[in-house]
Amino acid sequence: IKNIGVFTSGGDAPGMNAAIRAVVRTALYHDLQVTGIRRGYEGMINGEYEPMNRKSVSNIIQRGGTILKSARSEEFKTPEGRKLAYYQLKKHKVDALVAIGGDGTFTGARLLGEEYGIPVIGLPGTIDNDLIGTDYTIGYDTAINTVINAVDKIRDTAESHDRLFIVEVMGRDSGLIALRTGVASGAEVVLIPESSEDLPALLHRLEHGRKDKSSRIVMVAEGDREGGAFEIGNIVKEKFPQIDTRVSILGHIQRGGKPTCMDRVLASQVGFAAVEALKAGRKGEMAGIINGEITFTPFDQACKKNSHKLDANMVKLVEILSL
Ligand code: ATP
Repeated sequence: IKNIGVFTSGGDAPGMNAAIRAVVRTALYHDLQVTGIRRGYEGMINGEYEPMNRKSVSNIIQRGGTILKSARSEEFKTPEGRKLAYYQLKKHKVDALVAIGGDGTFTGARLLGEEYGIPVIGLPGTIDNDLIGTDYTIGYDTAINTVINAVDKIRDTAESHDRLFIVEVMGRDSGLIALRTGVASGAEVVLIPESSEDLPALLHRLEHGRKDKSSRIVMVAEGDREGGAFEIGNIVKEKFPQIDTRVSILGHIQRGGKPTCMDRVLASQVGFAAVEALKAGRKGEMAGIINGEITFTPFDQACKKNSHKLDANMVKLVEILSL
């Protein structure tokens, strides 16, 4: 290989820039060319390619978002769209790719590899931590720290007014952010898509639990149910009108901000590993870290849903520590 294309795709995540930097600098170290592809698969199809040098990635390791921008592309989901992408890659003499994103991005990367033989290595770039083949994804650590910083502030006002706050965090299919931040912020109960017993548990707790609590935090993953935190808020308000209940949706602040040290280091390690892997002839895999070891997982395995089985001990921990 002579020229590696790098792009970010799907939802952005803090630490993507650190990953881009690691890919570019490692490739240049090996005297390979690097081409940045802007706006994910959208830009791959539309010809948004730019050569990258050491300077292109100066002073970005600490920046959130992605300098290459991200996008979602419906066109790339079609065989015609991928054909256009392939022609553009050929035109720009890109002969290998590093794809930074989540499971959708890897599904696309797998198809491009299978249909056109382009070697692709993926990097886990998503705040959700919902991929197999890595203990943590790039952006997850930053996102959970953003959440607990916000919930600490909510706790101050909840405490001053003796309120119960239902806080909604990201996670359409996964309760990992909610569960971990629930433990870290002393939540009463965590409501997650993986469990159907959590709402009854909350109602039971409010009915029979301690009555002398001045503030309560309930953490909800956005995908827990239709209507999310507002729906839960309505149920609680109806059953317990005496409890002053408020809802707070944290929303997109969870995606932004400076990546934590953990995310920068993870992104740098897997970015380096991706280029080394392409040089060694690997393809069709995601580079992750399990128990401190760089690990390669085929795209179709990495994308399996409900990958990180929820740790039942963590659910129990929330319950016991908030009694
Ligand atoms: P996140 O987990 O943060 O949402 P993601 O990579 O899963 O990230 P998606 O929007 O699901 O984000 O996917 C990103 C892009 O990957 C899509 O816009 C599309 O271009 C491509 N993609 C997704 N699914 C497929 C598919 N089945 N076939 C081909 N391409 C796909």
